[in-house]
Amino acid sequence: MRQLIAGNWKMNGTRASASALLSALRQEAPGCGCAMLVCPPATLLALAADALAGSTIGVGGQDCHARPSGAHTGDVSPVQLRDAGASHVILGHSERRQDHAETDAQVRAKAEAAIAAGLVPVVCVGETRAERESGRAEAVVGGQISASLPAGFAAAGGVVAYEPVWAIGTGLTPTEAEVAAMHGFIRGRLAEAFGGAGRGTLILYGGSVKPSNAAVLLALPEVGGALVGGASLAAGDFLGIARAARTG
Ligand code: PEP
Repeated sequence: MRQLIAGNWKMNGTRASASALLSALRQEAPGCGCAMLVCPPATLLALAADALAGSTIGVGGQDCHARPSGAHTGDVSPVQLRDAGASHVILGHSERRQDHAETDAQVRAKAEAAIAAGLVPVVCVGETRAERESGRAEAVVGGQISASLPAGFAAAGGVVAYEPVWAIGTGLTPTEAEVAAMHGFIRGRLAEAFGGAGRGTLILYGGSVKPSNAAVLLALPEVGGALVGGASLAAGDFLGIARAARTG
């Protein structure tokens, strides 16, 4: 299956820097062949959608509210993301779970709202270092899978991103065996929960992916692509990762 390389820009980028990055990505993307997605901050979504219109790169949000509209100061709804040109939305990123105390139940409600608005949810799961070291990584990730994904998730083409919290932005990555084992475990849980549809769900790996380790990580069983943070802010790095991805 064609892999998906998604870039999470986090709270980075201005109109000037985003325009330069997007134009470099747009120019080189056809040579990559994999599916590509950029997730800029909400302020840059419409600019990104315009800059990438007619290209092979999609645009996604980084979070959304669980309601389509209403009195929720500072929040952005899935309907608004869709209206700005997004096709996907990242949900339950560990930075949201940590900084905003987001629970699995909230992530699930957001995923339901995203699907209702016509967006593909990209739901992040992953254990902390303490949880891995105490042998609870699978229990934690299994719990997040069962509590964060709504019933219609797989049928709507939902994507899971396995992002060990301790690997995000640290330069550390799990071993190949650890990534393969966790992706296999997640696949099993998705198949149990969603049957045939769960067998086709893309499972991205995220956490310190860069051009130098992308080929190895992307070749592991059940790795359907990558969610890239820091390296998605430099066109050469993001494209280097995309060139390592499977195209069919
Ligand atoms: C992320 O935050 O989703 C991420 C994977 O970050 P980085 O690639 O910088 O580790």
